[in-house]
Amino acid sequence: MLKPDQEIVQNCLAASDCRELRSAVASALADAGIEDGRLEAQLLICDAFDVSRAAVIAGIVDIQDPAKRDGLALMLLSRLSRRPLAYIRGYKEFYGLAYRVSPHTLIPRPETELIVDFVRSIYSKLSSSGSPVLIDVGTGTGCIPVSSLVHCSRLSAVGIDISAEALHVARQNGRDHGVQDRVRWLQSDLLEAITGMADLIVSNPPYISKSEIPLLAPEVRAHEPILALDGGEDGLDPYRRLIPSAIRVLKPGGYLAVECGIGQAQILSEMLRSSEFDEVDCLKDLAGIDRVVIGRRSTGSAI
Ligand code: GLN
Repeated sequence: MLKPDQEIVQNCLAASDCRELRSAVASALADAGIEDGRLEAQLLICDAFDVSRAAVIAGIVDIQDPAKRDGLALMLLSRLSRRPLAYIRGYKEFYGLAYRVSPHTLIPRPETELIVDFVRSIYSKLSSSGSPVLIDVGTGTGCIPVSSLVHCSRLSAVGIDISAEALHVARQNGRDHGVQDRVRWLQSDLLEAITGMADLIVSNPPYISKSEIPLLAPEVRAHEPILALDGGEDGLDPYRRLIPSAIRVLKPGGYLAVECGIGQAQILSEMLRSSEFDEVDCLKDLAGIDRVVIGRRSTGSAI
């Protein structure tokens, strides 16, 4: 019979020193089906005892403080219930910066960094004729516009989300990273509330198909906001709405870059080609999957 989580946590805390604690926590996490139990054990101990990862790895942390032990017990219990580590720690690294997260925001993923790479790669071209404007649709933590602004000094941005709670987190992230003067946070359903024009529209919209949602890891399925995941029957609903409105908002010659799921890049590329976009291209993530589709609004179709 499975041991109740409370008992597992108590067994871990019976460890006599940091090394023993570290390996007990790692095993408990691995037994619960958590993939990277060793790394997560280190990070939980770092946070609970407020020490560096190097100190945890070296095994030189004093683990006797009762309040800190209670803190670890709570975090571990929460993680064993498959709450994502980022929600427990309160932040996640993205593009080399720490972003606050909450259960109202998707946890930033490494593949989304490709969008920031793209913004940086196109920025010098766009900024040669002024200060470009970027719009991020479905901004969540604001990780895309904030990271882009940090690296592109003349860029300004609008981060859009339908969720006021997500925008609250994004605003804090903008302040944390010193770009609050160049970003506006706007509550809107996709681009509906936008009246001006943009040089660049980016988005990591919800793109999981209905049938795949029950197959997601428990961390994602039961804890991340469904609004940030569910892309309708085939996962493409948000793009069907976003592409026509992007044509309304993008300046002729402006760029659209959207993240997509496995197997969606080809159909998305077709959607862009048949909707006033040229120079359609895909960027691959580290696993070799076509992950970001880019298009340039054709210059011949100025309104
Ligand atoms: N833009 C945010 C991110 O990439 C949120 C995306 C979303 O909520 N679908 O992490």
